[in-house]
Amino acid sequence: MQLSVTKANQLKPKPDDSKLGFGLIFTDHMLNMDYSIEKGWYNPRIEPYAPMMMDPSTMVLHYGQAIFEGLKAFRTDSGAVQMFRAKDNIARMNRSAQLLCIPQLDEAVVLDGLKQLLSIEKGWVPKAAGTSLYIRPTLIATDPFLGVRASYTYRFFIILCPVGAYYAEGFNPVKILVTKEHVRAVRGGIGEAKTPGNYAASLLAGEKAHKAGYTQVLWLDGVEQKYIEEVGSMNIFFVIDNEVITPMLNGSILPGITRDSVIKLAQKWNLKVAERKISIDELMNAHASGKLQEVFGSGTAAVISPVGELKYGDKVLKIGDGKVGAMAQKFFKAITDIQYGKVKDELGWIETI
Ligand SMILES: *Cc1c(COP(=O)(O)O)cnc(C)c1O
Repeated sequence: MQLSVTKANQLKPKPDDSKLGFGLIFTDHMLNMDYSIEKGWYNPRIEPYAPMMMDPSTMVLHYGQAIFEGLKAFRTDSGAVQMFRAKDNIARMNRSAQLLCIPQLDEAVVLDGLKQLLSIEKGWVPKAAGTSLYIRPTLIATDPFLGVRASYTYRFFIILCPVGAYYAEGFNPVKILVTKEHVRAVRGGIGEAKTPGNYAASLLAGEKAHKAGYTQVLWLDGVEQKYIEEVGSMNIFFVIDNEVITPMLNGSILPGITRDSVIKLAQKWNLKVAERKISIDELMNAHASGKLQEVFGSGTAAVISPVGELKYGDKVLKIGDGKVGAMAQKFFKAITDIQYGKVKDELGWIETI
């Protein structure tokens, strides 16, 4: 497929690497591509970053038929730019598409378009330690129509934003509130798709947690409120009796790529690792018997997010000694070393631009 390129007449000033936040600044160009039933995916194009005109009846605004991805590109010490597991993100987007009745993307076309966009925007990949260029592929239903059915037309786009070091203030454990009041998703629903609706469903519980002084919510399963699913918008890991445990994918848990990276590294290091059901009661018992060594979240934004405290009902669990656990530290270093090109990419996770 031929990709056309229209360059911006005027380029934006680049921000100071040391003052970057998250999701506030966008680069000069974006990738757009459209879909219709007659043409399939057509007109992939790199254009100046710009607002989109939309009819107020555009279906995505009313029925939420949308999916997205989140991945990153990194600047290595030699100045090169590389992406982490981009093929896996594009493949996951197609799995999300299936669940929301959105037509499949040609994964090779998307990867190629993304690489071309990045080579144009290379100068936007920040250099300071811990910074990166966040990549947000998005796909929305665009029929101007009111009525519940899958749209006949779609827009796919990719936008980019330079982001600061997630742990600018230090790699410190966070406090998590286990919610029994709200659920994020249920089996048979769209919990395993990366779709805006799941985020909308998580807001109220998140606000309540913040008000109570907690950073994130630990979600239990939507059926029995018994088994642990995820933490905030991250997957979750426990180290119990020297075994690394994460809830098995069950249809309502998002299959995180960082989650998969942790599992693959644990296997490579010959650690005991299990993907299985784990109930909140088992976790409480492991803590009571002194066997719960570590808890940490995994996701693209933070990579690894150590948990120092869990509150469930009126019980408060202090995890470890209040510092980052050895395992969390080890996974964080191993993954970021690969991302920033500090070690050889033995697992085939890097896509060079
Ligand atoms: C994106 C996401 C994750 C983490 O996935 P990564 O691929 O590791 O970034 C976990 N849970 C939810 C709900 C998510 O949306």
